[in-house]
Amino acid sequence: MRKKWSNWAGNQQATPRSWVKPQNLHEISAAVRDASAQGRRVKAVGSGHSFTGAAVAQDVLIDMSCMSRVLTGPDENGIVELEAGITLSALNEFLFLHGRALENLGDISYQTISGAISTGTHGTGQKIGGLAQQVVGLTLIDGRGNIVVVEEDDPLLQFVRVGVGAVGIIAHVKIRTVNKFVLHVEEKPMRLSYVLENLEGLASRNDHFEFFWIPHTKWALTKQNNRTELPLQPLPPFKKWWQKSFMENTAFGVVCRVGKLLPALIPRLATALPGSGSTSYIDESFRVFASERRVKFVEMEYAIPREHCRAALEDIVRMIDEKNFKVSFPVEARFTAADNNVLSTAHARQSAYIAVHMFKGCDYLPYFTSVAEIMAHYSGRPHWGKMHFLTHEHLSVLYPRWTEFLAVRDQLDPSRTFDNDYLEQVFGK
Ligand SMILES: Cc1cc2nc3c(=O)[nH]c(=O)nc-3n(C[C@H](O)[C@H](O)[C@H](O)COP(=O)(O)OP(=O)(O)OC[C@H]3O[C@@H](n4cnc5c(N)ncnc54)[C@H](O)[C@@H]3O)c2cc1C
Repeated sequence: MRKKWSNWAGNQQATPRSWVKPQNLHEISAAVRDASAQGRRVKAVGSGHSFTGAAVAQDVLIDMSCMSRVLTGPDENGIVELEAGITLSALNEFLFLHGRALENLGDISYQTISGAISTGTHGTGQKIGGLAQQVVGLTLIDGRGNIVVVEEDDPLLQFVRVGVGAVGIIAHVKIRTVNKFVLHVEEKPMRLSYVLENLEGLASRNDHFEFFWIPHTKWALTKQNNRTELPLQPLPPFKKWWQKSFMENTAFGVVCRVGKLLPALIPRLATALPGSGSTSYIDESFRVFASERRVKFVEMEYAIPREHCRAALEDIVRMIDEKNFKVSFPVEARFTAADNNVLSTAHARQSAYIAVHMFKGCDYLPYFTSVAEIMAHYSGRPHWGKMHFLTHEHLSVLYPRWTEFLAVRDQLDPSRTFDNDYLEQVFGK
């Protein structure tokens, strides 16, 4: 019987014809060469944390979990070379032991480095790009099974760092790290109106600023994380368990389940959330950025030019009210610098990211399509790994170097060995 694959959220499944676990880049190369000679399709899979069908492998699944070693480094410039299947959490621990850290992270660290960069995974910090921006070299296997080494000064790097799995299987990643650092965390509820009026200041004066507006309330939970030289002052174990494990996962999960059964109660349940949010502590960066996520959901996230963040959020607030949607998950807003990766959602523009979520099993379609209409108005670019409904016709106008990317894809994968339904949706055949 064929083994089944499913993503974290459970909304994407596959039953691949073959399941390959390479131990090194030569085994990836051999698997791709064989598959392409037989006209079969190949898909590399990381930790399965994408909500889209990006990692769905119906034919040959390349499971990267045995390629998780650090190959070299950190060298004198802080560069490490990694096998592409290493998870961010394992990399964080390794770097910490060597006095190093990643410059930024998203809000979890379960992803593989290759999966994270391939979809343009990002955190928050308006002077900092997404994870792919720190990549200084890649070793890929192209669609014919050839090994392609891409160095920092090669113009190809800008095309393959965020490649959505369409331009090759990444075997090795060279990434720049920074000296390990400590963050002073301040989490507190603020009036949404205050946050929106002071957005520029909050985003620019903090190293890492984000907020979560709680639908059906006037409140946002804000997070201001700043580098500090002060001594560590982590949350005491019970408080940490209470806040990060019990409140953010167990209790929140109960709220979501009640809301799923009785949606009319959601606005009343939502009023309990702002009271849970005030805290301050000082901890290692990677322990601050990444959290435990046990409540399953589906998510859609768009990058828009930063200057439209306030207007777009006000539109969402109004729309939820007018359409009477009952939404139990906060709406998240984050900020990043512009970058030069051709398919990065922050390509050539300072970006605000707005993310909406729905508890697993709830009908997300009406809410997500309404948010997508608002995002379209602001030239929003959807996260490659999160739910969206756009096709290549829409996407091609959102990325100024789109046709150049398609040409690189033609060059690296002329027979579309890496295609699946999702790639056909977003890039065409
Ligand atoms: C709970 C949760 C929280 C999240 N938080 C954030 C966040 O804070 N910020 C953010 O930006 N995103 C976030 N995401 C999205 C997530 O970071 C991305 O979807 C990421 O791609 C997942 O990495 P993965 O290892 O699971 O890759 P997968 O989902 O397994 O794969 C993603 C893509 O990468 C390709 N790929 C994987 N390995 C390789 C390889 N070796 N070579 C070539 N292509 C490869 C796959 O084919 C697929 O196209 C979150 C997702 C979840 C479920």
